[in-house]
Amino acid sequence: MDDLEYGKRNKRGDWSPNEPAALAPLFTTPFDLKALAKWLPHYFFPWNILFALSAVAYWAWIIPPVETMATLSWGWALWLYAVNAVATFLFFGAFELHLYVLRRQANRFKYNGKFPSEQKSGVFWFQSQNLDNILRTFLSGVTIWTAIEVVTLWAFANGYAPWLGFADHPVYLAALALVVPVIHEFHFFCVHRLIHTPFLYKWVHSVHHNSVNPSPWSSLSMHPVEHLLYFSTMFYHLIIPSNPIIALYQLNYAAFGAIPGHVGFDKVEVGEDHVVDSHAYAHYLHHKYFEVNYGDALIPLDKWFGTWHDGSPEGEARMNERYRARKAKLAAAEARRAARNPQPQVKEAAQ
Ligand SMILES: [Zn+2]
Ligand SMILES: [Zn+2]
Repeated sequence: MDDLEYGKRNKRGDWSPNEPAALAPLFTTPFDLKALAKWLPHYFFPWNILFALSAVAYWAWIIPPVETMATLSWGWALWLYAVNAVATFLFFGAFELHLYVLRRQANRFKYNGKFPSEQKSGVFWFQSQNLDNILRTFLSGVTIWTAIEVVTLWAFANGYAPWLGFADHPVYLAALALVVPVIHEFHFFCVHRLIHTPFLYKWVHSVHHNSVNPSPWSSLSMHPVEHLLYFSTMFYHLIIPSNPIIALYQLNYAAFGAIPGHVGFDKVEVGEDHVVDSHAYAHYLHHKYFEVNYGDALIPLDKWFGTWHDGSPEGEARMNERYRARKAKLAAAEARRAARNPQPQVKEAAQ
């Protein structure tokens, strides 16, 4: 498939789409029914439906009986860790194998022309982005994901959380399942913005941002504190009346849903002439420019807070203007501070 029909490639070999990244027409104004109707199928297929079905499959075949989960024990916790680890290995590994190992679509639709394995870097464990990312995924990622899963299921099993049945509350629970991605977007934006504050960025979030050119294994390559904040999205279902299957959907959405945003390709080719959109461009720009696109544009939070970058020259100009204004503000604050305390070093030297 010719990716230049959909975008352009610069001298460095980086591909960018002709169409700028778009905000989901869900909360945008004025409300556009036609745009919503066009966008709606993408809300379900293929990603969200896959994550929702994964939760149903977990409940049917993986999650132990409620009586077992009423007591915390290593047995069922380790079982869940094993399943989560195998599922991650297979799902993430499939993208890695297809796009990065076998390179079945070469660099067609690839945002960054280079492949991470071609660039060694001292910021990574063993100087390897892949090895670093894989170890972080399985050491703390899957561990903290499983711990949050175990605590939530244990709370449900003991009646510590409001558990509604599908037979009694079908409409409410269907509506709740529909807004799982919206809850995720809200939670992700808040924690993501929080860990971009200077102290937390330096000690926590910089680990994720080491992958400036993200690939599938970058998805859950985070500091343990970020894993804890990221996966705690499941805890919403201990507060709002919910059902463990929907809580699992929320968790699996966070775990497996991290993949599309880090796949590094705008479209994944399936067969000869079919492609699946990754919708990764907004988050790719976040990895490239750091201080734009804290969310994934399902709720236009970045637009509201002035941090939205759609990849267009206008978006670039807006970002640069924001950086310039911030620099000027910092310089003015520094000048005010200096005026209040005139040259203390000179005074000390005179004494
Ligand atoms: Zn990321
Ligand atoms: Zn970030």
